[in-house]
Amino acid sequence: MNIVFNHATVRERADMLTFLRLCSERGLHTVSIWGDEIAKVGEKDALSVLQDSGMTVSGYNRVGPLNACSYDSVEAELERAARFEADHVFLFTGGLRDNEKNLGSARRRIEDTIGKVLDSARKIGVKLAIEPLHPMVTGDRSVISTLSHANSICEALGPGIGVVVDVYHCWWDERLQAEIARAGDAGRLFGFHVNDWLIPTRHVLTDRGMMGDGIIDLRGIHSMMRRAGYDGAVEVEIFSTDWWARDPAEVMDIAIDRCVDLFSVD
Ligand code: ZN
Repeated sequence: MNIVFNHATVRERADMLTFLRLCSERGLHTVSIWGDEIAKVGEKDALSVLQDSGMTVSGYNRVGPLNACSYDSVEAELERAARFEADHVFLFTGGLRDNEKNLGSARRRIEDTIGKVLDSARKIGVKLAIEPLHPMVTGDRSVISTLSHANSICEALGPGIGVVVDVYHCWWDERLQAEIARAGDAGRLFGFHVNDWLIPTRHVLTDRGMMGDGIIDLRGIHSMMRRAGYDGAVEVEIFSTDWWARDPAEVMDIAIDRCVDLFSVD
């Protein structure tokens, strides 16, 4: 099945080992995982359950925040992602530093840092993914807010780095189609995250919707991805206190039904 679950979707009631079992029971081939969730269950057990399941890792979350963490911790995460044979590792830039007001210089600093992280990632043998986050969280979570900016960074840096398109973060962008095509032309589309934007949204981090419950043109954006040459998985990533409170198996089954209906994936 060409659907991937990001563990964050069910993390409140399913630890990583439970999550892997739930994915395997549903015939899924790939998963997206988190370093902090690996640490909770122990890397040895996480790796052996993963290997026994025959599933592979799509996205590994994450390195960063790049504006605050030590370089040793960045390399440690990259090495752990390599041990899990992740397809790509997310870069979490973080927002502005304390009392920082110059967004331009913060962005230049992060661009330089990403260049250094890429040097390490190439040596370790993992690919990096930039996932632009919604402009509402520029101040505290990501100074990279648009696919346009992410594409430009990738172009400047060369191979080994690409972009992930998350509908929640990008749906509003009038350049969305053009920037997806630009990334596709460069062979740089590493992933496609789905969820939905609810009206009203009560909390920008923890009130994402299930696909189909909000206002995003999910079929339209999926078509843009396909037209740009993306033939990878649809990744379900829902950060939501409502869905976290529900039975993880039920949440996953609902999400799979929605994906089959919206994206004709099987
Ligand atoms: Zn995402």
